[in-house]
Amino acid sequence: MSAASEVIRSIERVVGRAAPTSDAPGGHRLGGAEPELTVAPESEDQLVEIVRVCSGGKVILAPIGAALQEFDIRPRGDTRPVVLVSTENLRQVHHYSSEDLTLTVGTGLTLGALDDLVRPNGQHLPFDPPFRRAATLGGAIACNAVGPRSLSHGPIGHSMTGASMVLPNGTHVKSGARTVKNVAGYDLHKMFIGSHGSLGILTRVSLRLKALPEDFRLVRLRTDSLTDARSMIDRLTRGPTRPCMIEILNPIAAANLDSDIEASHTLVFVGYEGATDEVEWQLDQIDAAWKRQGVRLDRDDSRKQYEVLTSWPERGADYAFEAVAPAQHRWALIESCSERGIAIMAHGRNGPVLGCGTGDLTLQTAAALRADAGPTGSVKFTRLPEGSNVPPTSSQKKTASTSTLKRVSPASQGRCALPSSYGLPKSQRSRSGAPAASGMLSSR
Ligand SMILES: Cc1cc2nc3c(=O)[nH]c(=O)nc-3n(C[C@H](O)[C@H](O)[C@H](O)COP(=O)(O)OP(=O)(O)OC[C@H]3O[C@@H](n4cnc5c(N)ncnc54)[C@H](O)[C@@H]3O)c2cc1C
Repeated sequence: MSAASEVIRSIERVVGRAAPTSDAPGGHRLGGAEPELTVAPESEDQLVEIVRVCSGGKVILAPIGAALQEFDIRPRGDTRPVVLVSTENLRQVHHYSSEDLTLTVGTGLTLGALDDLVRPNGQHLPFDPPFRRAATLGGAIACNAVGPRSLSHGPIGHSMTGASMVLPNGTHVKSGARTVKNVAGYDLHKMFIGSHGSLGILTRVSLRLKALPEDFRLVRLRTDSLTDARSMIDRLTRGPTRPCMIEILNPIAAANLDSDIEASHTLVFVGYEGATDEVEWQLDQIDAAWKRQGVRLDRDDSRKQYEVLTSWPERGADYAFEAVAPAQHRWALIESCSERGIAIMAHGRNGPVLGCGTGDLTLQTAAALRADAGPTGSVKFTRLPEGSNVPPTSSQKKTASTSTLKRVSPASQGRCALPSSYGLPKSQRSRSGAPAASGMLSSR
């Protein structure tokens, strides 16, 4: 029996009656490889055991949530079998205090289930990425997912006050806490934001909720060109109102969204939330300002428009991507996508640019889009046509495989290690005064 088969037999022994499955959920493209095994541990302890069994580097181990996104797990040339660890059974609500607006839950909980839990108490996690009903908290954090309202609330990581994680060597650590600032040290859990499963597996997360706003309104401005849309947004951000979201749709996306829209129109959606008086005042301000400029402003059903907007990337396209580009490249990227017939929705002022295209995606087009995003920008394909040879990211991601990460030294597996200078007068502290690298980590 090969060493990898031995590892897989050991995992089966750990999970016992929770029989592992061999099919990958969803539509993951695993670097062209099917997983040898997909296993869904029923508890954090079981997950720890599985990671320990896999820690010898004989297999590639990667966490998976709702499996919505394409990603490469297997580094090029690596032939080791892939084991996926699904968080679908880690959905427990460990703590919820509606009074304190704090919540600690398993990372397999979907954003939709979270919403159903807290909404009856007039609360929400102000976070609206695509697929928000189905996406898991672990997947959304590991992707650093954002949505339209990230303009005012930031990405999901801004609401994260603490987390528990299993490191590649099977050490279960926690960082942060339920409330803000009740611990000292580094926010180590924040390293897992955007980690794409490369640092370990998030098992539970503590979040700060917000009260639902009294009112939410969305208006739609039609402009004749991308240049007009750009100058409108510039004026809007310098004006007296404080939008919670600004979305730009190029003419292709606008026509997809609404058949009444003329093919030449670029749309700008502007949203406001808060107390009704405050929202009304802001709407009156932009109404007056835009009317003076002769810009048509539509006040349609805000809720419906918002639902359409936030689910826009979900409307089956052959390929989809999320691009991040600095200001000088952002508008050029939107322009070149329009010329290529790609529908574009761009978040806020400097948020990601989302593209959806139909037809084949060649390596040349993917490379051209990546070049358009500029040397410091990036284009990540979240969906690819069947059989495509385009890599989802321009550099292959690292996985939680122990061969790609250094083992955590025994010292850092211990209890909270405050720097030896902690509590000493300033004159007696070390020059850097910084906490030791293991700062907030503590064994569970
Ligand atoms: C068509 C399309 C459009 C999209 N548009 C956007 C967009 O506009 N903005 C945006 O922000 N996102 C976008 N996404 C990404 C989307 O937000 C993510 O697909 C979703 O949040 C991931 O949730 P999931 O549960 O399916 O994670 P999965 O797809 O299962 O996993 C995603 C990544 O997270 C890792 N991971 C999963 N669970 C854990 C865990 N517990 N601990 C550590 N790592 C973990 C996985 O290894 C993987 O690398 C888009 C995706 C698609 C398919």
